[in-house]
Amino acid sequence: MKILVINSGSSSIKLQLLEMKGETALASCLVERIGEEIGLCRCVFRKGSAAEQAIERRQAIANHREGMRLALSILTDAQQAVLVNHDELVAVGHRVVHGGEDFHQPCLIDDAVIQAIEAVAPLAPLHNPANLDGIRVAMELLPGLPQVAVFDTAFHQTMPPHAYHYALPRRLYLENRVRRYGFHGTSHQYVAGECARLMAKPLDETNLITAHLGNGSSMTAIEKGKSIDTTLGLTPLEGLIMGTRCGDIDPSIHAFLARVRGMDIAEIDAMLNKESGLKGICGLNDMRDIHAAVEQGDADAALALDMLTYRNRRYIGAYMAVLGRVDAIVFTAGIGENDAVVREKSLAGLENFGIVLDPEKNRGRQSGAREIGAAASKTRLWVIPTNEELAIARQTLALTGDGEKGGGGKSVD
Ligand code: AMP
Repeated sequence: MKILVINSGSSSIKLQLLEMKGETALASCLVERIGEEIGLCRCVFRKGSAAEQAIERRQAIANHREGMRLALSILTDAQQAVLVNHDELVAVGHRVVHGGEDFHQPCLIDDAVIQAIEAVAPLAPLHNPANLDGIRVAMELLPGLPQVAVFDTAFHQTMPPHAYHYALPRRLYLENRVRRYGFHGTSHQYVAGECARLMAKPLDETNLITAHLGNGSSMTAIEKGKSIDTTLGLTPLEGLIMGTRCGDIDPSIHAFLARVRGMDIAEIDAMLNKESGLKGICGLNDMRDIHAAVEQGDADAALALDMLTYRNRRYIGAYMAVLGRVDAIVFTAGIGENDAVVREKSLAGLENFGIVLDPEKNRGRQSGAREIGAAASKTRLWVIPTNEELAIARQTLALTGDGEKGGGGKSVD
């Protein structure tokens, strides 16, 4: 029962082939630099096992179609024997960044779904068109296979109106659907499910704060298993401080910069998305480089670390107030899973709220899910690796009916 998961970006495509009996990743491919002079396709087979092998091709990759064709040909490499031919696939799952208000859950892709994804593209102009490229190419190269769209925004569609509306003129919502949507939903939903399972608690009785801290970051308040608030908004810019994105700022900064520096809207938007966050504060956007710079006495890097962890703490406090009772806080993604200093500083001083870290468990380096709270902590504290590909594959399988080709699909919800 093999499922292919596709995450198609503007100049890269990530693919993962999973065997759903046992839920193992058989191979992962990254196609990069599409449209550049020399592109790269690298596939890793049986990652982490003694039989791990990689195949790499460097060649011009004109477009998504060529990139996908190249990756699919490598995945069916006879020597690797993970996929003899495409008929072995039961379905394809696609990550789609923005589902607007139309998509509350994954759905089987047909023409109406493609149109609906196109219709919300203005809300994610960098992401949705690239996701659609991947969908169209996969439908062409893998005809007859059920294709499922899994939306980053879907998990947050349970937010109540008082959490998802902006205090703006009502017509902006009614005419342009300006509201908060939230992102990273697949990741928040996956780690929430894992956390409830690890605590042996029914998910629909579990309240959590999940912190997805990576290059892009967001925090979600989860009540009885459902998202009731999250830090990202209309676009993936609001909330926490990220690698190159500013997170919350005074919205008047736009007007101020236009007036005082003569910047136009496109320049300001690019600056807030690509030149701000950690990079804006200290010139570095990778947390590992920032720690190295702090060690060297770099004051800007120290400020960046203080600002990021202070913002995290502020939102943890806010979401504790929103939820009232918090069973656990979960850290995930690149920084959340690996950075003990960020976790420690983000939770510092919260003992009076029943949050007590165990510094040794926090600094432990073992992989996999682990608990990092002290015995005295009323709210349990966890590090849980995210696995968005597995989450997409599970949802794809669930929709395509026990892996039967074409069966059991649902339409847009
Ligand atoms: P992601 O977007 O989840 O892939 O996370 C990527 C980010 O995680 C990188 O830009 C780093 O800032 C951070 N990261 C990855 N590994 C580590 C590590 N060992 N220690 C601290 N930060 C890390």
